[in-house]
Amino acid sequence: SITVPGAAGSSVSDDGLPFVGHVIDGEEVPSRSGHVFPSIDPYTREPWAQVALGTAVDAGLAVAAARRAFDEGPWPRMSAGRRRELIHRFADLIEEHADELAMADTHDMGKPITQSRGNDVPRTALNFRFFADHAALTPAEVLPMDSGHHTYTRFDPAGVVVAIAPWNFPMMLESWKVAPALAWGNTVVLKPAEDSPVSATIMARLALEAGIPPGVFNVVHGYGPDSVGEALTGNPDVDRITFTGESTTGKAIARAASANLVPVSLELGGKGANVVFEDADLDNAIDWSIRAVFTNAGQVCLAGSRIYVERPLLDEFVDRFAAAANAMVVGDPKDPVTQIGPLSSGAHYTKVRGYFDSIPESNGRQIGGELGEGWFVTPTVVVEPDRDSPHQREEIFGPIVTITPFDTEDEAIREVNDSPYGLNAMVFTEDLTRAHRVSAALVVGTVWVNCFFVRDLRAPFGGAKASGVGREGGNFSREFFTEPKAVVMQM
Ligand code: NAD
Repeated sequence: SITVPGAAGSSVSDDGLPFVGHVIDGEEVPSRSGHVFPSIDPYTREPWAQVALGTAVDAGLAVAAARRAFDEGPWPRMSAGRRRELIHRFADLIEEHADELAMADTHDMGKPITQSRGNDVPRTALNFRFFADHAALTPAEVLPMDSGHHTYTRFDPAGVVVAIAPWNFPMMLESWKVAPALAWGNTVVLKPAEDSPVSATIMARLALEAGIPPGVFNVVHGYGPDSVGEALTGNPDVDRITFTGESTTGKAIARAASANLVPVSLELGGKGANVVFEDADLDNAIDWSIRAVFTNAGQVCLAGSRIYVERPLLDEFVDRFAAAANAMVVGDPKDPVTQIGPLSSGAHYTKVRGYFDSIPESNGRQIGGELGEGWFVTPTVVVEPDRDSPHQREEIFGPIVTITPFDTEDEAIREVNDSPYGLNAMVFTEDLTRAHRVSAALVVGTVWVNCFFVRDLRAPFGGAKASGVGREGGNFSREFFTEPKAVVMQM
């Protein structure tokens, strides 16, 4: 059996696989029901860990623990400076356990180890460090008034935060929620995705080891509907819900939150567009375009899965892009040479494979795209599919990209904006004024010009239209995870 190397406190279940529990009130515990579910490694297609399968009972216990820790415990009352020290210690431990955490995500969902070890773990640690510093160091406004009064703003912790995460960047996306929530003095119940549960429990163990008090960072495992997800979002003792996942799930969560008037932050699906003008630096454009859509086997909310190329450049772009896609190394995600691993689960593979059946009806020309043994899909390019084809409109969440020519700047802007989603776009051009003009016209949360994936944690991150509600990052996270209060002083 596969074991989690060096896992702090991990035990072994009856069938020899590592057991991964909930973490509630400072203890790693099984489900009250005693039920477990397997985490399947999508490369071997075999279970590699047994995970506590939570019910509404476990969800209720976790929220109650977080409530007690918030109402009675030291965390919200501690100085921001002390919280900062403890969160930095937690980040140190994340770095010390980098191999264990990286291997957990790679086993759980098939991400190449070079990405989980080289990108996701360091970014997770960095996210904790950034939000710890931000909460301790950000100034708040003081407003001297004409009347002689002074008004200032306090950012008090909001309370119990429920965080619900997807499987595509397990620990990293969880850290974008847990880090600001903790840094601003809240207590947290995290529900990781059922396909990627293990790294969340490891993180909660490490938070305790770092000295973050029991009950401050809880983890419960299980499914969404009729399971822990629904129990958490319907719990009236929760003060904030932060969610990343599909747009349809986001609507269900917003409905549940509205019943208790709980503020929600929703980071949802996308259909990233990527516009390449004729004057672009083509080497740079192809390099980023390849990474934008094939990183993590295309299982990225930001994936640049619709490429629009100015017509005179079309043939050269398609040839060079397809050659680069074809050269990517597909294989065992634990092998450091692998660039594309399997899709995350059998169910997701079935969904992505379905898009191959409709390529002929879309009138697109298919280049590449093999369905290997197991849950593999190799890079697939569909040139000039119909505008209303599913490939052009739906979030596939796999290594399938469309390439469409355009003739004018206005047409390119119209095409990008003609989508139910509005998460992000890329623009490749050497024309400075056009870069600004097009960026302003696109209805999306982020525009990358001549680059991609670069992120400043102070900047707003989130989506327009069906891609989300609210923004994460810097002061945007502060406003969501606190209860801002105006204090008016007569001088
Ligand atoms: P998903 O919506 O199926 O599941 C996400 C989480 O929600 C899981 O933990 C799941 O158990 C839980 N859940 C499902 N139904 C629920 C319910 N009714 N109540 C409470 N919880 C429920 O999404 P996924 O398949 O895990 O992730 C892929 C999706 O996430 C894609 O659409 C992708 O674009 C999106 N995503 C968005 C961003 C972003 O920043 N905008 C980042 C990453 C992924």
